[in-house]
Amino acid sequence: MPRPQSLIRPLVRALHPYTPGEQPRVRDLIKLNTNENPYPPSPKVLDAVRAAVDGRLRLYPDPSADRLREGLARLHGCETRQIIVGNGSDELLALAVRSFVEPAGGGGSMDSKATVQFFSPSYSLYPVLAANHGASVRPVPLGEEFSLPSVGTLRKSGLFDFRAALTFVTTPNAPSGAGYTREALRKLVQATKGVVVLDEAYVDFAEEDALQLALDHPHVLVSRTFSKAYSLCFQRVGYFIGHPDLIAALHAMRDSYNVNGLGQIAAEATLRDLPYYRRGFSRIKRTREHLRTELAAMGWKVMPSQTNFLMCQPAGASAREWLEWLRERKILVRWFSAPELSKWLRITVGSEAEAEALLRVVRTVRKTIAS
Ligand SMILES: *Cc1c(COP(=O)(O)O)cnc(C)c1O
Repeated sequence: MPRPQSLIRPLVRALHPYTPGEQPRVRDLIKLNTNENPYPPSPKVLDAVRAAVDGRLRLYPDPSADRLREGLARLHGCETRQIIVGNGSDELLALAVRSFVEPAGGGGSMDSKATVQFFSPSYSLYPVLAANHGASVRPVPLGEEFSLPSVGTLRKSGLFDFRAALTFVTTPNAPSGAGYTREALRKLVQATKGVVVLDEAYVDFAEEDALQLALDHPHVLVSRTFSKAYSLCFQRVGYFIGHPDLIAALHAMRDSYNVNGLGQIAAEATLRDLPYYRRGFSRIKRTREHLRTELAAMGWKVMPSQTNFLMCQPAGASAREWLEWLRERKILVRWFSAPELSKWLRITVGSEAEAEALLRVVRTVRKTIAS
C-alpha cells in the first residue's frame, strides 16, 4: 500500500494555504473581520434569487454568464468580450497566475516570466496563488505610511521587476486602506511590460477608480467583485475587464461552469438596482469617518481609508491584546501575524449600530487598562 503523503506532489505538500478571516458559528458576534457589507442585498435581488429557486436547479447555468457580462459591458462602456466573470474575483486572480506566469524552472532563479509581483503589505492571497503554481514571488515594499512608490523610486531601488510576468496592485489597498490615484497607477502601468492586475475589490468606497487604464492598455486588467460593496460574498461573483485577447486566454483556462446560476441571477439583479447600493456606500463612508475620528480621539493611530475598513494601531496595549479583549466582548476584528502588520488591527466599518458598539467596548476596555 502506498503512503498517501508519497502520492502528493512535493510542491503541494509544502503549501501554506491562505488563512481566511473567521466565519463564526455563533450568531451573537459583531463581525468586523472580513470586510463584508453590513447591509443586506437589495430586496429586488433577494426576490430574483427566490424566484429562481425551483425545479430549474437541475439545469446547468449559462457557462459564460452572457447576460451578466452584457450588463457589465453596458455599465462600464466596453464590449462583452472584454469581460470574464468568475467564482468570486479570487478565482480570476488564480486564473491570471495560471494563464500569464510560467512555473519557475527550479534553481530559485528570479526569472521574470515566472514571477508574480505585488506590493507589500497588500492582499495576502497573491503569494499563496504564486506558490500553488510553483511561481516565484516578488513582494515589493510600499513606501512611508503604505504609500505607492513612484516609478523613479522603484527604478532606483531595483526591487521592482518591470518585466515581471504578472503584477498585482490592490487599489485601494488592503489592509492599509490607502487610495492610489489613477495618474500614479497610469505611470506605473506604462512603465511595466508584463500583465498588471488592478484589484479594485474596494473601489466603490474610494475617490477614484482606474477602470480606464484597462480600457487604454492591452496589458492591464481590472478586477472587481460583487462580494464586498454589493453584499454578495455568499454567492461568489467577481469579474475582470481588459483586452479581449487576455480575457479570451482566461476563458480558455476556466472551468466550463465556473459561475453558479443563482450567483449570476443575483449579480444581474444587482445591476438593475445600483442606486440602492450607492446609498449604502454613503452610509458606510460616513460611519468610517465617524469611527476614525472617535478612535483617533482615544489615541489610536488610524490610517486614512478609501475602503470599508480601517487600519488602526490601538493605544494602551498591543494589537494582539486588543484583538483578544474585543473578542471576549463579542467583537471580531482582524489581526495579521506578519511582522510588518502585527502592530495593526484591521476593523471593518459596520453599520452605525455596530460602530457604536465597538466604540463603547473600546471606551470600557480603555478605562480598565488605565485603572
Ligand atoms: C475580498 C477580496 C477579494 C476577493 O473577493 P471575492 O470576489 O469574494 O473572491 C479580492 N481582492 C481583495 C483585495 C479582497 O479584499
